[in-house]
Amino acid sequence: MTERIAMKNPIVEIDGDEMTRVLWALVKEKLLLPYIDLKTEYYDLGLLNREATGDQVTVEAAQAIRRLGVGVKCATITSNTARKDEYKLKNLFPSPNGTIRAILDGTVFRKPISVSRIQPTVSTWKKPIVIGRHAYGDVYKAADMLVPGPGKVELVYTPAEGAPAALAEQRITVAEMNGAGIVQGIHNLDESIRSFARACFIYALQEKLPLWFAAKDTISKTYDGRFKTIFNEVYEHEYKDKCAAAGITYFYTLIDDAVARVIRSEGGILWACKNYDGDVMSDMIASASGSLAMMTSVLVSPSGVFEYEAAHGTVQQHYYRWQKGEKTSTNPIALIFAWTGALAKRAELDNTPELAVFANRLEAAAIETIEEGEMTADLARIAQPQAAHILNSWEFIDVIAARLKKRINELR
Ligand code: NAP
Ligand code: MG
Repeated sequence: MTERIAMKNPIVEIDGDEMTRVLWALVKEKLLLPYIDLKTEYYDLGLLNREATGDQVTVEAAQAIRRLGVGVKCATITSNTARKDEYKLKNLFPSPNGTIRAILDGTVFRKPISVSRIQPTVSTWKKPIVIGRHAYGDVYKAADMLVPGPGKVELVYTPAEGAPAALAEQRITVAEMNGAGIVQGIHNLDESIRSFARACFIYALQEKLPLWFAAKDTISKTYDGRFKTIFNEVYEHEYKDKCAAAGITYFYTLIDDAVARVIRSEGGILWACKNYDGDVMSDMIASASGSLAMMTSVLVSPSGVFEYEAAHGTVQQHYYRWQKGEKTSTNPIALIFAWTGALAKRAELDNTPELAVFANRLEAAAIETIEEGEMTADLARIAQPQAAHILNSWEFIDVIAARLKKRINELR
């Protein structure tokens, strides 16, 4: 065997649950370990280990990403009452992704992986559309009230105890209601919006994509207006020169105009969305682009650390079938791309180009395999021209491995 590629610094490896955990080990064994002297700091976020450590392992994994700069994460179960019975858990812990995101203060970017046999539903889209979703506040942290009958609803701000004397109570009327109804209070924080804007500019520069941001500041002059102002400040003061040097444009427009423009665009943009817009639009982009199993996800922190993962979950139903002995046709592409994303970022930070070249070759081998007609069942359902062979995950990874080996040997 020829020498494996050396790594300077480790990647934080975060293992997970169910079918993705099975595929995780397989991807490492067949596609990475034969070629890389893989250095990782391993954290087992499988549900039982989160339980055993009182979820401390999740916090430690996030801190490790802060320290080492790059992480790669397998999908994990978010525990709920059904899982509590299934796994005989004593506690329910919050979503690991939520915990990690809170520690890294990150923004999540989702990008579809394009292959020629899978056409986007929108025929004008030639390049992927990436969504950057603000993941704090708005309707996700709202206070709602059923108003029982006629009366006045007000917004009241009370300064914190010990706050500067210049801060005074403020009070405005939301509505003089003439009957029963509903009311909702939402908020956001300047600092969170600023982090979101920074993460978007960092990502746009890294991926060389024009950045669009949209809100509804004509109607929501104060609330959405604040988002527009902060984005603009971050651009003007911190990124204008860097964007100009990289040939990257920043464009603000109204959300309805953005939706209309995205549909008739060629793609190849980063679309920064407020929390709710991002929730809705990322599902639209994912499904219009083909399959959930072809969507990558990266958490970018404003401090410049990165965590890569697949956008899908643990593929629970496939796991139950695998446990019964079936070789399922679960698509490992997004998991493979989580690894290649992390390896390429590690290579960039460590200045180890050989590792970046390997990541690139692995991605090319995976894409080519699908383009030549060998694919998993989820893709075969929508492929045009049709699949030549529908493979299970083990066969599919073996075909990718053979193609990768051939590419590497040819280049020796
Ligand atoms: P899911 O695991 O994404 O699966 C939903 C369905 O999408 C699957 O049943 C499957 O459809 C299809 N699918 C997803 N990934 C696929 C792949 N790689 N290959 C082929 N088909 C794929 O979502 P879920 O069932 O809602 O959630 C399962 C568990 O994952 C939950 O415990 C949830 O908490 C967790 N989760 C974790 C993350 C994360 O860690 N980032 C994200 C989401 C959910 P068919 O059954 O029709 O084949
Ligand atoms: Mg959604």
